[in-house]
Amino acid sequence: MAAMLSHNTLCIIPNVSKYGRALINRHLSKKTHNLEWKENLQYALENHHELYLRPIRVVNSRLGTSFSGAPIEHRRLKLADKDAILQTQFSTVFSRGFEDLKSYLCNDHYDVLETTLWPLSALSVYLTELRKQEETLKEGFNKYAKNDIPEIYVAALLTNHLLSCLVYGNQYLISNDYRKKPPLCPCSNRDCGKYITYGQTGLGHAHIWYGRPDVVVMPKQKNNSYMVPLWYINELEQEEEEEDEMKDMHPLEIKVQSKFKHFASQVLSQAIIFAFYQSNVMKKRGITPLTTLLPSLVLTPSHYYIIMYDYKNDILLSSGHQDSSLWDDTEDFRFNLSAILHIWMVLNYNDFVPTLDPEVIHDFARSSNIHNILESQNLLGETEKISRKNSFVTINTNDDDDECVSIKDMKDYIKDPHKRKWY
Ligand SMILES: [Zn+2]
Repeated sequence: MAAMLSHNTLCIIPNVSKYGRALINRHLSKKTHNLEWKENLQYALENHHELYLRPIRVVNSRLGTSFSGAPIEHRRLKLADKDAILQTQFSTVFSRGFEDLKSYLCNDHYDVLETTLWPLSALSVYLTELRKQEETLKEGFNKYAKNDIPEIYVAALLTNHLLSCLVYGNQYLISNDYRKKPPLCPCSNRDCGKYITYGQTGLGHAHIWYGRPDVVVMPKQKNNSYMVPLWYINELEQEEEEEDEMKDMHPLEIKVQSKFKHFASQVLSQAIIFAFYQSNVMKKRGITPLTTLLPSLVLTPSHYYIIMYDYKNDILLSSGHQDSSLWDDTEDFRFNLSAILHIWMVLNYNDFVPTLDPEVIHDFARSSNIHNILESQNLLGETEKISRKNSFVTINTNDDDDECVSIKDMKDYIKDPHKRKWY
């Protein structure tokens, strides 16, 4: 039996170990001396804005390229007999997360698995400090916007003051591919000054797709057995040009056409590779996965997008048809709390087990066409070799710079103890 803070009193929760109890008490009681976070949570649930995920079909793609060099021709999944758009709700896919939150708020005696309490403790701290985090991000973005904000600063600000806060243990790695690497969090908050953790985030297969997610977030309670890759896009660099690309679009799509198309290829290829990779990790550790539908996240300073790929049933879902705002549009730099809930559930997906209805899976299996594309090149079996590593050797018949995995200074390279002979 174990205890946790609820409505300012201790209530009894079964099945929590002594170790878990001590940590949860520390995190939920010290930092939640007022109930502001519960009010924020209740408000977020009562005013939840739905996010819609639509099935995507990959029509064509070149394989054996980096994520950023993977031209993926894709479109919404079409219906043969009706001109309609298919979609599913985020709250249906993550129904367990919403049920857990609602029952936590409604019941004095809250029966949850111990594992769910870890992400909940992270969320409680974040919602308690919400105003402070909003102010820090606002100041940070304003500061760097004046100097044409470099992407690494966006990545560091959002990682330190949003993403890593939403997982227990705050563990993350920012790709060491960035040329500029600020050693400390670049925010102006005097209490922060956190060291930034850089590392190798490389992921993929040389003959399929490969590359380095900008950041990976790793909830600590799982001993790093799972992670979530993130792609940061500094949308200030994106150009506003549309018009003639809209001619084949459904009228409903034109209304909500988003900026997503500018970076769709790289984030879709990354999401697909990540799902296969995570399956390999589980297999290697002898763990039966609770779900085969895995999420990836794309963030800009103002928007977020969620992609989910079911590697077993070959179903690809994306919220990329619309720009979902990180911020509440009616107020200056106040978070859209629905965005916080969505991102929190995505980062802790292993505890909230996103799933599709079995009948939906049955009807839409292989709808994304990825399995067919890989099979046509005898590469479906190779997905079992998708792994994390620093470089992906490709057989290049030309010297196309776009195919390079990384750029190194020659002087730095000769000092590298692991260097290979050039050829
Ligand atoms: Zn900071």
